[in-house]
Amino acid sequence: MPYDTPLEDQPLTHPDKRHPPSPATRVATKKREERRTPPDELAAALVESVSADSLRSTVEALSAFHTRHTFSPLIGPAAEEIVTRLAAAGYPDVVRRGWANGGHSADNVICTKPGTSADKPVIILCAHYDSRMEDANNATARAPGADDNASGVAAILEAARVLAPVALSSTVQFVAFSGEEQGLWGSAAYAAALHATGTEAYRVLNLDMVGRPPADGSVTVERDLGNAVPGNDAASQALGAVMAQAAADHTALPVMLGPIYASDYMPFEAHSDVTIGAYEGEGNPHYHRTSDTPATLDYDYLADITRITLATVAVAALTD
Ligand SMILES: [Zn+2]
Repeated sequence: MPYDTPLEDQPLTHPDKRHPPSPATRVATKKREERRTPPDELAAALVESVSADSLRSTVEALSAFHTRHTFSPLIGPAAEEIVTRLAAAGYPDVVRRGWANGGHSADNVICTKPGTSADKPVIILCAHYDSRMEDANNATARAPGADDNASGVAAILEAARVLAPVALSSTVQFVAFSGEEQGLWGSAAYAAALHATGTEAYRVLNLDMVGRPPADGSVTVERDLGNAVPGNDAASQALGAVMAQAAADHTALPVMLGPIYASDYMPFEAHSDVTIGAYEGEGNPHYHRTSDTPATLDYDYLADITRITLATVAVAALTD
């Protein structure tokens, strides 16, 4: 099994979505008149195919693991469940790539859908599949991690299923990371490995907690506001605007705009990639608790998040 190893070990930290560096703010979004452009027509077709039942099936399968803590022996079988589902969607190129950090190791799952044009930016759709409970170091307690983050993985897998028969000019990678809860270890290793072999800028769409809507039912579109590299901010905000417009065009979700923070886009941002995220926003009382179960999710909301992700990919893959 090939290993991705960052140049230096990453510190043990515990990313916390409850403390954004700046608040998200509501934006007025307006559904556009239907336009007969290739990206819009593709997006309209893709969003029709999203299945809430398919999303629920993935969330339930991943949450059925007693825990998906990165230090648990169950992290391997959880990775294999994701491999199996991507292979069943018709993808021949699905691999587990290991990383090692601070005496620990686990796998990322990477599924590559080749594009028809080599000079288009590669799009990475990603979500972490590891989970935790209140005590971040407890690798044996029940940690179903339904919202955090079986929801994001389910959306990635559903996007993969819907996109399988569709030819896109951009290559798309569907990636599930481990080691997120310890400090973005899996994504740091993968971003380092990608950029060790080239300077290409990737388009990274990260989904972390997208299954339990806040009281106002909104989605927070996360954009790069500064961080390690300033030169990629404008492109991130443009891609975020595409996602916000997709929410207006294809769903009734109110849209908040917020910053990227505390999830797997950060290592890519530090390598100059163009990164955005979708997030339900703060407020899930089950966050990092044993009570984060599949019954607490809203699968129609998760389907809508999947729709705006697909519509964003359609635009990014056909117009960049
Ligand atoms: Zn998370």
